Amino acid sequence: MLKIIEPVLDLIAPPLCVVCRKEPGVVCSSCDKKLEKYRITRNFCLKCGGVFDGRVCPRCRDIKFSFEFNRSVFVYEGEIRNIVEDFKYRKIRSLVGYMAEKMADLIVREFPVIDVMVPIPLHPTKKRERGFSQTEVLALEISGLTGIPVNTGDLVRIRNTRAQANLSREMRLKNLKGAFKLRNPSNFLGKKILLLDDVMTTGATVNEAAKLFKRVKGTEVYSMTFAIAAF
Ligand SMILES: [Zn+2]
Ligand SMILES: [Zn+2]
Repeated sequence: MLKIIEPVLDLIAPPLCVVCRKEPGVVCSSCDKKLEKYRITRNFCLKCGGVFDGRVCPRCRDIKFSFEFNRSVFVYEGEIRNIVEDFKYRKIRSLVGYMAEKMADLIVREFPVIDVMVPIPLHPTKKRERGFSQTEVLALEISGLTGIPVNTGDLVRIRNTRAQANLSREMRLKNLKGAFKLRNPSNFLGKKILLLDDVMTTGATVNEAAKLFKRVKGTEVYSMTFAIAAF
């Protein structure tokens, strides 16, 4: 019997490294080493995971987060930003392996044992326009590496929120109210849940989702992203 597979072209790696465009490999090993300068290893906020070296983290001053803590692998700058954009908008799907590996590594090292991962969903209209949900693809890949199950059906985006980037801080928070719905909350009773996204900016998006999971009895909610914006 014929098995239906994803269009092959999507999965073929670009012939040259997306960073230096000289060496073979999606991200060549020498660029991989150079990107370490963006890794967040110290001087970060223990709550939101953003780079921070002071008394009151501005991101955490703005929002009282409903998740236990967020951790992000890299700061959202320079080549890291390009990688996310290549993956998301230029649809270089072969980057998923690189990104998932970095995230899986951090999950294993820095989080308690997670029962289920939930990617932050796109609104169905946006998913149709883009052709795929970058967070869903990432979550499935991470699941393959860690063995942690993924739930992609129960957290639903019910409002197609306007692009956050062009809005003021207050408007962003308002813009997201009621953006998600949680189906079958009983699936999450007493579970340790890890919400996944590619980038954290204010944290308002993931926080809206975290609130819904927090309402389910006995849950612990965590968050992780590939990159986090400077505040
Ligand atoms: Zn390279
Ligand atoms: Zn913080």
